[in-house]
Amino acid sequence: MTGGVGVAVRAWAGLDAGAQSDSVEQPKLTGGALRGRAMGETPAGGLDWAALWDRIPGEDAALLAELTENKLLATLRDRYRDHRIYTYVGDILIAVNPFRDLPLYSPEISDIFSSRPLSSLPPHIFAVADRAYNSLQGNPGKLSRNQCVVISGDSGAGKTESTKLLLKHLVRRSRGNLQLGQQILQVNPLLEAFGNAQTVMNPNSSRFGKYIQLRFRDGAVRGAKINEYLLEKSRVSHQDPGEKNFHIFYYMLGGIPDEEKQVYGLLQPSLYRYIGSKWEEATPSHWVESYQRVCNAMRMVGFQEQEELDLKVILSGVLSLGNVVFEPQESGGVGVCPTAMGWLKAAAGQFGVQEEELLSCLTCTLSLTRGESIRRLHSQQQAEDSRDSIARGVYSRLFGWIVCKINELLAGDMDMGKELQEIGILDIFGFENFSVNRFEQLCINLANEQLQNFFNHHIFLMEEQHYKEEGMEREAVPFSNNQATLELFLARPWGILSLLDEQSSFPQATDVSFVEKLNSTYRESPLYERGRGFEPGFAIHHYAGKIKYSAAGFLEKNRDALPTNINRLFISSETSLISILFTASISRTGTLTPQQRAKVKVSQEKGSSRKISVGAQFRHSLAVLMEKMYLAEPHFIRCIKPNSQNEPGLLETQTVLNQLRYNGLMETLRIRRDGFSWRPSVQEFVARFGILLLTPGAEVSRESCKRIAETAQLIGWHCGKSRLFFKYWHQDQLQRRLVELRDAAIV
Ligand code: ATP
Ligand code: MG
Repeated sequence: MTGGVGVAVRAWAGLDAGAQSDSVEQPKLTGGALRGRAMGETPAGGLDWAALWDRIPGEDAALLAELTENKLLATLRDRYRDHRIYTYVGDILIAVNPFRDLPLYSPEISDIFSSRPLSSLPPHIFAVADRAYNSLQGNPGKLSRNQCVVISGDSGAGKTESTKLLLKHLVRRSRGNLQLGQQILQVNPLLEAFGNAQTVMNPNSSRFGKYIQLRFRDGAVRGAKINEYLLEKSRVSHQDPGEKNFHIFYYMLGGIPDEEKQVYGLLQPSLYRYIGSKWEEATPSHWVESYQRVCNAMRMVGFQEQEELDLKVILSGVLSLGNVVFEPQESGGVGVCPTAMGWLKAAAGQFGVQEEELLSCLTCTLSLTRGESIRRLHSQQQAEDSRDSIARGVYSRLFGWIVCKINELLAGDMDMGKELQEIGILDIFGFENFSVNRFEQLCINLANEQLQNFFNHHIFLMEEQHYKEEGMEREAVPFSNNQATLELFLARPWGILSLLDEQSSFPQATDVSFVEKLNSTYRESPLYERGRGFEPGFAIHHYAGKIKYSAAGFLEKNRDALPTNINRLFISSETSLISILFTASISRTGTLTPQQRAKVKVSQEKGSSRKISVGAQFRHSLAVLMEKMYLAEPHFIRCIKPNSQNEPGLLETQTVLNQLRYNGLMETLRIRRDGFSWRPSVQEFVARFGILLLTPGAEVSRESCKRIAETAQLIGWHCGKSRLFFKYWHQDQLQRRLVELRDAAIV
């Protein structure tokens, strides 16, 4: 235990006795916060971490006497200066990225949160995890609701770090199977190596979204499942200035010892076009360490040695393929430049296929018309596009396969008859607005509209609806509803995604004709603007502001077509992993029987497997995710990026204000202060807290609820017809009573 943490724990233990009897509205002030010098500094100029645990006013912004944007900003700024990065707005946690390591997350601190009433502790990410965990535990039997934690924020705001902290705390707290717990934690380095990259916003930016579901039985973690969304695969073949390819390529090139590189057919890093100038001459030592960490994680999670070997060979194949360049042939069409023939040979070897067949996939298209095979030669551009789309296709399938594999390995003991409960954690890309916004940004921003809509639904609409249903007279808090924007994207048949699919299915359609279709359909829409000076393009008024999209490449990206014969070629690959990757319709993970191979071949030849567009796939996965989340009890974490230079100790007013505004945090603050955010049904409430009446089988009635609330001395709550209306802190008070009861029983 470090000195700082030791002091923190002691300070906390001392504070606890007093806080037990305090209401949450009036946290008890202790010495540290009142010292004359800036909080966090010792007289010697060092940092006094112990003071971080003092309770001070302002830690719940919903309780501020003055409710203005400036006051909220000033509160966050003061707290940030004192390294108090967490602040509540009612039951929502605001986390301002410290861009430095703070001693807030040790196992000792994790244990304190697991064992103490949350209302006696300062705002913390562990408290969110505990609330979700307690809600899961507190609802025995059928009434228990799954939980979900939604983490949102700009790129670099700290979503992924927050996800890791939540997982770490939940795994520790639930004390399930130790090995499974370790495996779950090892998943992150693995996913980050393959799915994260350096961008201008964040040196470790997640280029995919994920929803991690931790599954519990009897309070212990029994398994986990990951869903991934929209890996930004265009990065494999193209990176904008100041950005890099996915981390794993650098880890491999920097981390594999020279003699071992031959096994995979890897050459000097600077030779590869997909890496090229992004390679730094002096290999940073962390790439070597990171490579080791990824290898360890693969073993720990349970990948077979052969799978690991195949995976590295295939990644090397992607790099080799990127170096295949073309030139026009005298006989027509294009061929591989003589200097690049070696790369073609290498790629074919690494993918386990015949060189001539790979060449044919790159340089021509074969199609079957009325039983006749027709061969069309590619232009140089088409050949380059084919090359890049194969590289991207291989990489994204590899990523999908890794996630499937992880899910298989972490499925745990799911089949014991008893139902499992779930805590899901959503870490999905924040809103994006670059100098050029493409199809990827459109999908990402649609996901953010959907999340904002989910947030609005829970924070504003449900509250309003429950008041009405239960006959309570209250004024609605105005908020900016983005339902119409969501419909602009998703409505059938006239929403943007539907029109994109319609155009994608016409062979003659182009990005320009797609934009013309949008222009005519949304002539009257206040949410849509024609592109002026950036044709073909258009602009959408999102909840976070107006975004201009360049439509170049929309149709191609939505169709996501691979060269026609590449599937058949790769299914017959000698590298078994390649074959598995391209047989996704049957299984991404298992090995294929000869019958399965034959079946796939026949269906490919008949052209019977109709491809679903990227937009349609995304719409579907978003709908499935939302369905899950609407059934769960949500917890929200809003991550804030304090400055655009990723520097510690610097909070830029405008940067933060923008984020507060488009997150709707002021409206949230108002509704959390005036409203009743926890609204269980009578049934749910008695099932969870009936035990406080100390009589077995408490009757499910409003009367019982009143008696329960009395035992916990709750003030200021309301009883509707079938539902109860509580302030968010009442739940903690009840939980505290439960803990007291449990402790008394143990004593
Ligand atoms: P993106 O959308 O680009 O994936 P993100 O919101 O997931 O961004 P993170 O990668 O989680 O952002 O955070 C960016 C960086 O900020 C981290 O690499 C880390 O250096 C720092 N950081 C974030 N949260 C914390 C924290 N709680 N303590 C210390 N550093 C942090
Ligand atoms: Mg991230």
